[in-house]
Amino acid sequence: MSAQAKQSRMVFGEIASTGVARGTAVVCGCAAGGRAPRRQIDAEEVFEEIRRLDAAIAIVERDLLKVQESVQREIGKQEAGIFEAQILLLHDTAFLEEVRTRCTLDHLNVEAAVDEAVEKLTSVFARLEDPYFRERAADLRDIGKRLLDALAQGREPGIPNFPDDAILVTTELLPSVLAQLKGLKVRGLIAEQGGQTAHATILARAQSLPFLVQVSGATEKISSGDHLIVDGLAGRAFINPSPATRHEYDRLEADLQAHQTALKDLIDLPAESRDDVSIKLCANIGKVADATAAATLNADGVGLYRTEFIFLAQDHFPSEEEQYRMYLAAAERLKPREVVIRVLDTGSDKLLPYFPLPREANPSLGCRGLRLLLAHPHILRAQLRAILRLSATHSVSILLPMVGGVEDVRAAKEILESVKTDLAAEKQRFCSRISMGAMIETPAAAIMTERLAKEVDFFSIGTNDLVQYLLTTDRSSGNVSSYYEPLHPAVLTMLAAVALAAKAAGKSFSVCGEMAGNPAYTALLLGLGFRNFSVNPGDLLGVKNAIRSTHMRDAEQLAARLLHLSTVREIKDRLHEANARSHPAEDPKNREEQTHGIAY
Ligand code: PEP
Ligand code: MG
Repeated sequence: MSAQAKQSRMVFGEIASTGVARGTAVVCGCAAGGRAPRRQIDAEEVFEEIRRLDAAIAIVERDLLKVQESVQREIGKQEAGIFEAQILLLHDTAFLEEVRTRCTLDHLNVEAAVDEAVEKLTSVFARLEDPYFRERAADLRDIGKRLLDALAQGREPGIPNFPDDAILVTTELLPSVLAQLKGLKVRGLIAEQGGQTAHATILARAQSLPFLVQVSGATEKISSGDHLIVDGLAGRAFINPSPATRHEYDRLEADLQAHQTALKDLIDLPAESRDDVSIKLCANIGKVADATAAATLNADGVGLYRTEFIFLAQDHFPSEEEQYRMYLAAAERLKPREVVIRVLDTGSDKLLPYFPLPREANPSLGCRGLRLLLAHPHILRAQLRAILRLSATHSVSILLPMVGGVEDVRAAKEILESVKTDLAAEKQRFCSRISMGAMIETPAAAIMTERLAKEVDFFSIGTNDLVQYLLTTDRSSGNVSSYYEPLHPAVLTMLAAVALAAKAAGKSFSVCGEMAGNPAYTALLLGLGFRNFSVNPGDLLGVKNAIRSTHMRDAEQLAARLLHLSTVREIKDRLHEANARSHPAEDPKNREEQTHGIAY
């Protein structure tokens, strides 16, 4: 059965080492090792058993020294110290006394004596308050396993064959197993046990291997050969993820990659123009991991939380509680910065498999976004309840997708008020003055900006759909892609008008479509009056760089000149010349061709 045909599921755990990894599951009982052989021995055999124990200790010590050397060489001195500590543990008098007593007094064979001694001492460790000492139990089990391997002479530890993109899934990851993985192509780790200060965790961090611990039932829920995405930013792993999930992680990985580039130096610098005009530079997120990336890159907040991903990643409508926890996780990462949560924008190209919609000849002109929510208010109510509850403790606001006019907004506001009444009756806490904003992504909404300003607190301009609807060009169709042109004079004229109307009405407004994330358009958007941007995390630094190299007077002159031009070609040429003048060095993120936005 192909990974795609298998059922897609999720498991959750604690993040021991951050990062995102994808690959093929290798489920391995590396920690288990099986029970040691057990037998009663005669008094004459005691001496021989103690001799075997000493020989095994010598073998294990030699092996540990080798591991220590190679870890020191390849990872670092501090991490190598873990194995020095294991050598000390190997010679620990209390441990060896336990083993010897079982051989000499209880007449147990040495394997069973080691097994019992490890069992006894690890259960003592496990009862200790301090997690550091609790996690030392793993080191002792590791020593026990090594001794048993040495006693069994040549018994190979249970590490199976590894594919090139292995994600190791195990009950408990022992430090020695992890050190042995160095030469193998392991991309990520999942364990049912383990903790933040376990040595395996320290080693995983040192090797930048994403690692989830405390993933309950991982070795039962995951089978070798399953395709996995380990999300060590949000603490979850996808088993045989859907194409939509894989697509999301393609983007996240590209975003993270971008973060590694030379732009890193900009992280701590403010987003201000050359003449010190301060710009609010926020992130677009779709999942908790994006929020972590946004926080790492010092975004000023989240300007667009596309909640569709939460709905797409499940096989059922997420409950109010599930939603609350997801939104809380994202808001926590960005605290105290604001997170703008857009209510579900489904329909058209973003379909939920568990929510079949009637067939429509033109779904992007059909029942989607806010229209669909108003037709199924229970979906909107559950989401608003989750967001409102979060507003009691975090700075969040609500954004309405695909607003077509004043009626849509009023209907949504009525539902919001009724949800507030319910929550108040239930004595649930929430912020009664929570802000509500409208996406401007239909030409109707753009034209109505001034009148919509009387209904909402802020605007977010979604250029992906605005371009599609204004130019009547499907954003996801390859056939007409040459007509999908963000630099069309009609688009620039409309953006300028929206910015002017929103400003005149005293409402804050930002641009959050893919146009906002393209540094080639930054000066133009600044010149058109935009001071708030919301972009994918991977675009934050490129856009910040463009803002920092722009002088506002030049940007305004540029926008004024481009607004007078009549063709896309002329606009592109002028913009290209202006960008070449202000950023002579080619920025790889200045994309000539505009992408059409996220296709789920
Ligand atoms: C947009 O249309 O520009 C937008 C941000 O919304 P989405 O890409 O999610 O449709
Ligand atoms: Mg849109």
